[in-house]
Amino acid sequence: MSFSDLGLMPELLRAVAEKGYDTPSPIQAQAIPAVLAGRDVLAGAQTGTGKTAGFVLPILQRLAADAAAPQRAPRVLVLTPTRELAAQVADSSRSYGKYLRIRTFQVFGGVNINPQISALRDGCDILVATPGRLLDLAQQRAVDLSKIQVLVLDEADRMLDMGFIPDIRRIIKLLPDRRQNLLFSATYSDDIRGLAERLLRNPLSIQVAPRNAPIELVEQRAYRVQKEHKRHLLVHLIREGKWPQVLVFTRTKHGANRLTQQLEGAGIRAAAIHGNKSQAARVKALDMFKHGQITALVATEVAARGLDIKELPQVVNFELPNVPEDYVHRIGRTGRAGAAGEAVSLVSSDETGLLRDIERVLKRSVPILPTPQFEIVESAPQAQGGASGSGGGARHGSHQANHGGERREGHRAPAQGARRGGGGARQWRGRAH
Ligand code: AMP
Repeated sequence: MSFSDLGLMPELLRAVAEKGYDTPSPIQAQAIPAVLAGRDVLAGAQTGTGKTAGFVLPILQRLAADAAAPQRAPRVLVLTPTRELAAQVADSSRSYGKYLRIRTFQVFGGVNINPQISALRDGCDILVATPGRLLDLAQQRAVDLSKIQVLVLDEADRMLDMGFIPDIRRIIKLLPDRRQNLLFSATYSDDIRGLAERLLRNPLSIQVAPRNAPIELVEQRAYRVQKEHKRHLLVHLIREGKWPQVLVFTRTKHGANRLTQQLEGAGIRAAAIHGNKSQAARVKALDMFKHGQITALVATEVAARGLDIKELPQVVNFELPNVPEDYVHRIGRTGRAGAAGEAVSLVSSDETGLLRDIERVLKRSVPILPTPQFEIVESAPQAQGGASGSGGGARHGSHQANHGGERREGHRAPAQGARRGGGGARQWRGRAH
């Protein structure tokens, strides 16, 4: 199947071809014709499945075909849980729509509201927004939502986790009753089902991966390690594996900052990304990561949600998430667009229960491999308090991994085997059906 089989207009086909996509992903193959036909859609799709193009392409086409367009007020509203996702969806919309005269604008919190107010005055067709900021703008009468024809809830499960549902309800009250609704969610809880039932009319249900299943292409493994030794093991893994790029998840913002300093202290270029960082700092960190200027991006759950980092080969769970579904989201950062990825979890004895919960959701075990020997290198306390790469007075000691909890032998994962080749071709290779 090709994109032209899906009924897309030449301007969109051209933009898609320039992106290098030649085969629609499974979600695109199903969602594009349905959205073009004006149907509501309920899609169970993780990040990395190509879901964004799955809704953006047909929406652009519907807008382009609508001659009687209002001048200023947006006709499409996309709600996302995070600023990063809002920015990414808006970027995708602009790049897929580059041969059309459709204006996309994004608004989110954490930055000055005034430039957003004046930009909205100029008008846009597609508005991508995080819920809180959109409500602020609506209260200040800076945005008119009465012309919305299509509402998209992207990563609805995450919006629910983040407590955005009351905001979303308030926003929906500001929209016209007659509209098309699209709901995307990686996981399905009863709350999401309830939301979908209230919101969607006779939706087409699309499920591109089994419920709560991880992306098949991600190779998962875990190491047992004492909490206080995790950072040394991480340094060892990055060095030995010569990892060019790794996304590391910590549970807290403070933990992300501390680990970033520790990695820097070990001579590994790193930056942290979390909710306490300014938008500018987050964009800068992400940019440096994407351009290979730093090796490790240390992130909390929320900050990393929806990040589209092309073909990220490596994710590390420095700490396991409390909610098993978050594990699915985290490892969904790798293996994007059909590329293979590796997800490594560092599991301390107090996390054994969390690992068990994750395995229950995955319906499979995560192979636990023998912990490699790694070196413990303590940086000497520094007078300036900052981390530096020089590491004068480092205390070295070889460490034979001490396995706190019970140890299970894993089926040894097909270590480097499943790595992707070349990387040039952007053909859809996922088998997420
Ligand atoms: P998403 O799940 O929407 O975040 O998209 C994941 C990644 O897949 C993005 O980097 C897209 O650029 C890429 N992508 C989307 N559709 C295709 C396709 N049909 N072929 C190859 N790559 C794609």
